[in-house]
Amino acid sequence: MAKRYLIETFGCQMNFHDSERMAGLLEAAGYEPAAAPAEADVIVLNTCTVREKAEDKVFSRIGELRQEAEAAGVQPVVAVAGCLAQQEGATIFRRSPFVDVVVGTQAEKHLPKLVDRARATSSRQIDINPYDDVSFPLGVTLRTDPVKAYVTIIEGCNDFCAFCVVPYTRGHERMRPKADIMAEVAGAVASGRREVQLLGQIVNHYQAPDDRACDFSGLLEAVNGVEGIARIRFASPHPRHVSDRLIDAIGNLPHVCKHIHLPVQSGSTRLLQVMRRRHTREDYLELVAQLRARVPGIQLSTDMIVGFPGETDSDFEETLSLAEAVGFHSMFSFKYSERPNTLAARRLPDDVPEDEKTRRLAVLQDRQKERQAALHRAAIGTTVEVLVDSVSRRRDTELSGRTTGNTVVNFPGAERLLGMIVPVTIERAGAHSLWGRLSASVS
Ligand code: SF4
Repeated sequence: MAKRYLIETFGCQMNFHDSERMAGLLEAAGYEPAAAPAEADVIVLNTCTVREKAEDKVFSRIGELRQEAEAAGVQPVVAVAGCLAQQEGATIFRRSPFVDVVVGTQAEKHLPKLVDRARATSSRQIDINPYDDVSFPLGVTLRTDPVKAYVTIIEGCNDFCAFCVVPYTRGHERMRPKADIMAEVAGAVASGRREVQLLGQIVNHYQAPDDRACDFSGLLEAVNGVEGIARIRFASPHPRHVSDRLIDAIGNLPHVCKHIHLPVQSGSTRLLQVMRRRHTREDYLELVAQLRARVPGIQLSTDMIVGFPGETDSDFEETLSLAEAVGFHSMFSFKYSERPNTLAARRLPDDVPEDEKTRRLAVLQDRQKERQAALHRAAIGTTVEVLVDSVSRRRDTELSGRTTGNTVVNFPGAERLLGMIVPVTIERAGAHSLWGRLSASVS
């Protein structure tokens, strides 16, 4: 009987996509998916360390899995992959006797070999070597989303923002050849995926190693030309690399969505300098003005940190006023937490009291919620184009999808509309999504 695997993913889209690749590798090695941990011969936890909370979650999940395995009388091989594996290495074995394999972010390709070796020799296996190779066997990715395909174009980051662990966990920046990316995009579209999301830590820093004339805007143009593609998104760009050419590409290429997730992190230029973000409040607001002027209707989202070392009341007020001035359609906001090895952890005291961080986060999130609700209310009565990307698990007549601006829209409809772009007239609005009805033109 074939051995069975289960992968649990923590963290971002990049990790979600890495899990798709590891699933493909395990299936190529003869494994089949398991429905539950108690049925799995190998359990992979693909981890995240961007926030302290995410890291805590992984260790508590390992504890739960151990209890479940003991209760079921099974002994799966347990592998920890991703950023926590890269950051903590063999320390994970000391913290959890239940873990058999530790595989770093650049060693994913060796997962099946490490699992087999752990099983065959009953010994722990670790590979956290910094492999430079960014190639991955084409076609191995096991895409679980029927509508969207994630395609990595850059691995790693060289920016070393003071709070960020990514350059330490994902390594230095490595660009994938354009030819590999285009082959993967073409394969995803040929298999029925309508939307492609290009991924990189600084996605708009892309420069094709196999085509010197092709930067990120050039890549968008090439992907836009793929027959059958409906939508293109990308995450995450850095404000300082948003060129005029990129703004024009977003505005002019028909399949590129009119949405940009543009992490700002703080509204205070003083604090942005301490964070080593290499952009100012003024640069950011000017960039937003350019985007709005040249891409009518574009929607913006962002990432914010509150309580970064040294953040004063007036820095925080500037964060609130920047959010107000931009009018973000959505925001991921977090309390600062020290991450190992980072410049902030080494040099800056974590001096904003925890209850003050909590207060600031609540104020920021409350205002964002009000702003989102107001922006969404303004859409009532309009008709928007929605790419249907899921069917509700609770009610199979409720569909869900996104507008080009990345707003979630729910509406009644048949499952056969999955993957289609349909017009929906908005009738109701909440802080996180819209509800509507298919316009009369769709039967
Ligand atoms: S640019 Fe992004 S990924 Fe790179 S160090 Fe800064 S926050 Fe981290």
